Amino acid sequence: MVTGRPESYTGARFIATFKRRLPIPAELTAELALWSRRICESGLAPRCPEGFAGNISVRRGTGFIISAAGAELCNMQNEDFIQVLDVEIEERCIVVAGRSKPSSESFLHNAVYKCRPEINAIIHGHDELVLKYHSDLHLPVTAKEQPHGTLELMNEVINVINSHEYIVLKNHGFLALGETLDRAGHLALREHEAAVSAYQASVRGGDVEVEHLGDRVRIGGKAVAG
Ligand SMILES: [Zn+2]
Repeated sequence: MVTGRPESYTGARFIATFKRRLPIPAELTAELALWSRRICESGLAPRCPEGFAGNISVRRGTGFIISAAGAELCNMQNEDFIQVLDVEIEERCIVVAGRSKPSSESFLHNAVYKCRPEINAIIHGHDELVLKYHSDLHLPVTAKEQPHGTLELMNEVINVINSHEYIVLKNHGFLALGETLDRAGHLALREHEAAVSAYQASVRGGDVEVEHLGDRVRIGGKAVAG
């Protein structure tokens, strides 16, 4: 259903225009809901004043389907997802279909999809151990900390994205990308496990070899095998 007069609301940093107010069909959001819950249960999207600190999306048509702003990521229903139909960066405008406000990181997800055509799924979460051990794990990291939901954060990511599928947002969190949502989700969990290993090695005082990003890395040392 297309409403005669689109409704709008002004978010912190953009305006969302609702082209349709119908919820996204559940068959399009089931896997998103599943991975939202897994990421929460793994502690990678901790509770925060606005809901949960994380967001998740899959490419759909010329846009994508993304979690709502402040969504309860641990228990997502289909109406907690929004389809982004169009993004106009200069006008700070996002055209959407759905019932809720889109995530404040919609510009960031849009930019990743635009510059990486092979990527069909994005998970943004917060992982304290990855933030602490990313240099030991040789993970790409943005140069400068930027506030969430800003074009500055989007630009920091685009500057380092290259062909990486896992990017650390300096002093903030991570982006896991994948050709499928399953791949992005497992990547987020694997990098968390690698960071746990790094932490355990630091507690024990020894070093440890972890396998991640298709590489074997000795924590505190250098990559030992391709
Ligand atoms: Zn965040």
